[in-house]
Amino acid sequence: MKLVFSIILWLMVTITMSQNITTPLEFNNFSRPTSYEELSRYVKLLDSISPEIVVATIGKSVQGRNLYALKFSTSEFGKDTSKIKVLIFAQQHGNEQSGKEGALLLAQELIKPENQYLWDKMDLAIIPQVNPDGAEANKRRNGNTMDLNRSHLTLFEPELIALHHFFDTYWFEVNMDVHEYSPYGETYKEFGYRNNSRELIGCNTNINISEALRNLSNQGFVPYFNQYLNERNISNSIYTPGGPPEIDYIRHSTYDINDGRQSFGIQNSFSFILEGLNGPDNYKDSIQMRAEGQKTGMMALITYCYQNKETIKTLVAKERNQLITQEPGSLVSIQMEHVKDGRKLNLPVYSYATGADSIIIVNDYRPVVKSIHDVTKPIGYLIPKQLNEVVDWATRHSLKTEPFSVSKSAIIEEYLVTTIDSMDFERDTIVNPNLTVRTLSKKELKGDYLFIPTNQLKGNLLVIALEPKSELGLVTYKSFSHLLKAGQKYPILRVVKN
Ligand SMILES: [Zn+2]
Repeated sequence: MKLVFSIILWLMVTITMSQNITTPLEFNNFSRPTSYEELSRYVKLLDSISPEIVVATIGKSVQGRNLYALKFSTSEFGKDTSKIKVLIFAQQHGNEQSGKEGALLLAQELIKPENQYLWDKMDLAIIPQVNPDGAEANKRRNGNTMDLNRSHLTLFEPELIALHHFFDTYWFEVNMDVHEYSPYGETYKEFGYRNNSRELIGCNTNINISEALRNLSNQGFVPYFNQYLNERNISNSIYTPGGPPEIDYIRHSTYDINDGRQSFGIQNSFSFILEGLNGPDNYKDSIQMRAEGQKTGMMALITYCYQNKETIKTLVAKERNQLITQEPGSLVSIQMEHVKDGRKLNLPVYSYATGADSIIIVNDYRPVVKSIHDVTKPIGYLIPKQLNEVVDWATRHSLKTEPFSVSKSAIIEEYLVTTIDSMDFERDTIVNPNLTVRTLSKKELKGDYLFIPTNQLKGNLLVIALEPKSELGLVTYKSFSHLLKAGQKYPILRVVKN
């Protein structure tokens, strides 16, 4: 009864305030994060009162909760090709509550009359909560105890299958993945300082992603983001994991393509990660301030995309076309490292001793990613059809396949795994096989194969996933590690020419 009463009260308060509707967090007086039930009611209310919003259920979580996407458009969503398509998604990590709260505040902001100009040039989708099961338990992982933001390449989890299917439906040109970072660890405490920026912005770092797009991110959006947040008194910086300074190196965030930002970035999207400062108690400490910081970070992206619509759209179209029409033989990097370029980083920090903010100059700063092993891009890969786990993987990624008949002049390569060594990858130890390669003759090609060409939007993703020596490849995951056995042939073949 009490619950029913509070729902009715919330609806009355919300609707009477008309254009200024109340989010569940505001209604709870910022005392605790929004529950899944409250979020469900709120998004349905937005759908019913705002003509520009359609709420879609894009899938279900492991435990059966709905995954909602709020689609903002004044035309049929995604249909008007002159508009820029932007996707913002939050709370892949369930114990990072403020991304969701910021997204709900953002939706409230976006339905105000003064923001309706945006839809002249933009279709925007917001997924406030990718991981509702983790959110309800205030835990990082999903209902299968998987870290969603390390699972975008293998794509086993229902939440991510839904997210990628949604992306593949519209081919969003811009994405932002919203998180929180927690700087309160012991090593930094012993060091005496910790990060203290309310919002951090991270760009694409994988060097197979279009250089022009990475440059526009670093030289166009990042300075705009800094200024936008500074003007609103929200401290901010670029996202630089690692350290503490002088103890371990500091770099830009991972070049792996198994996270939200780069799994879309590798398809030449203009793609970012936003990291808000979490509280020492990540559930409700300073939740209002955290939510408002996240909302502002997201708003910076939206206004930048509105103002630079033509530049971004033209560049994304050009760089995607490059992926789709690329001749085989170009280089794809499958092993990389973070290196210095002589620059030093001014890292804004908080001093545990004095409680004051200051700046530390970081000498071992590695902002550049360099290739240490390339392969040439084949025209495609042949996957034995009995290799169900790889065939199913290709299906989950909606990869384009084509019929294949081998020509007289075909060059098809097969790897032999001689030995398996290990290597460091961003402080993890992973497999690093030694390979020999040989060309198969036409009559050696027996059995049924699925042919996946590389001339598609996920062409670079395909190479990075399937090459056995790729440090970001499928063989580095437990579910696919059996593909690599010392002294045996690697079962997936490269078609270099046909
Ligand atoms: Zn996170």
